[in-house]
Amino acid sequence: MPSILSDAAKRADRYLEQLPERRVAPAPEDVEVLDQLAGPIPETGVSAERVVGDLDDIGSRATVASAGGRYFGFVIGSGLPVSLAANWLAGAWNQNAAVGVMSPVTARLEQTALDWAQDLLGLPAGVRGAFVTGDTLANVAALAAARHEVLARVGYDLEKNGMADSPRITVVVGEEVHVSVLRAITLLGFGRDRLVRIPVDEQGRMKANGLPSVEGPFIVCTQAGNVNSGAFDPVRPIARWAHAGGGWVHVDGAFGLWARAAPGRRALADGVEDADSWAVDGHKWLNVPYDSGIVFVRRGDALRQAMSYGPAAYLPTSGAGEFMEFTPEMSRRARGIDAWAALRHLGRTGVAELVERCCRHAARFADRFRQAGYRVLNDVVLNQVLVSFGDDAETRRVISETQREGTCWVGGTVWHGTAAMRISVSSWATTEADVDRSVEAILRIARRKGVPHS
Ligand SMILES: *Cc1c(COP(=O)(O)O)cnc(C)c1O
Repeated sequence: MPSILSDAAKRADRYLEQLPERRVAPAPEDVEVLDQLAGPIPETGVSAERVVGDLDDIGSRATVASAGGRYFGFVIGSGLPVSLAANWLAGAWNQNAAVGVMSPVTARLEQTALDWAQDLLGLPAGVRGAFVTGDTLANVAALAAARHEVLARVGYDLEKNGMADSPRITVVVGEEVHVSVLRAITLLGFGRDRLVRIPVDEQGRMKANGLPSVEGPFIVCTQAGNVNSGAFDPVRPIARWAHAGGGWVHVDGAFGLWARAAPGRRALADGVEDADSWAVDGHKWLNVPYDSGIVFVRRGDALRQAMSYGPAAYLPTSGAGEFMEFTPEMSRRARGIDAWAALRHLGRTGVAELVERCCRHAARFADRFRQAGYRVLNDVVLNQVLVSFGDDAETRRVISETQREGTCWVGGTVWHGTAAMRISVSSWATTEADVDRSVEAILRIARRKGVPHS
């Protein structure tokens, strides 16, 4: 093995070993020294050993320890070691996942990972899937397929004739739609101000009673897992209504769709299988390294048509491994191998336990905050916890001091007009001890101001 790779592996091992005890956000002085890695392009090159050595000696300390167990910001996975190791080996292979003939092993393992994910998520047999960089691109690809299909149903060939003369498409979303869906809507030319917005209940779920009547082609965007509360839209009645009118139903399930893999949580996402397309992340709750998302479409041909590029004599088409026919990219790393490794290692019960464990940790956070007299703002049904420490200014103080103190990292949000600390438990590495240690650090900071107000 070339020594440069052994050296990187040794350094990576040491980094991961130190994670459990290091501070989560980097110290400001460790960020300042990054200047040493920047500046003008070196006139003459630097040795490979020195490049990797500097990267570790200077760069590692300026990382955020989100690969460890006490990072609860945004919705961030930690990268299972088996998945990271597979990623390294696949990196050495440096395969292009565009078409099967470029890499038989990639084509086979990506399809296998997609089949396993379809099974665990309980999506209909026969769905077509493809790996993309993340849930945002999965939303883009799915909604492009939707756009193709609803226009084809009224006899309009979008790929040939373009948007200029296209029949108008109505896009329906919930008031709590995730910004990444709005980005997909922007990119695809639907127009954010032309959306029909459905009211939501106190947990952020679309209200399925009183759905509007829609004329012409339409697409409905639902979500499985609200980014703040973790709540699920009622997809079954929404799909019944949409399908009766000829509409397409999409599910943004970036992290929440994995609830389907845990028997005790599956009912939360009941009915998502009635949709036409799904977007889900690998790099969040499945804990595969960045970047990894999956798009699934019930009618794969709609996705193929939406991603079509016209004939190119040198490119093979229509074989089993021709993933570039189903994704926005052509050349692409073999990111499905990371997911294959995670799924093969965990198995059905391991994925279920990972999901269940994170939900249990979230409930533990919520219980301990309530016991201490603070107000939990959401129904903690999944891995998300929203907590207030008094008035908005006080909550924001507790959040920013917690981030600086370094025991753990939590984000902030606004929920129904109230500032909230936002905790998302998405890491395979988080233990009960990590939760307790984090709660204690947060409560210490919260109590510095005296009595908790509720
Ligand atoms: C994270 C998230 C996204 C965006 O996913 P990326 O992987 O960051 O592109 C979209 N929707 C929801 C609900 C999310 O949680």
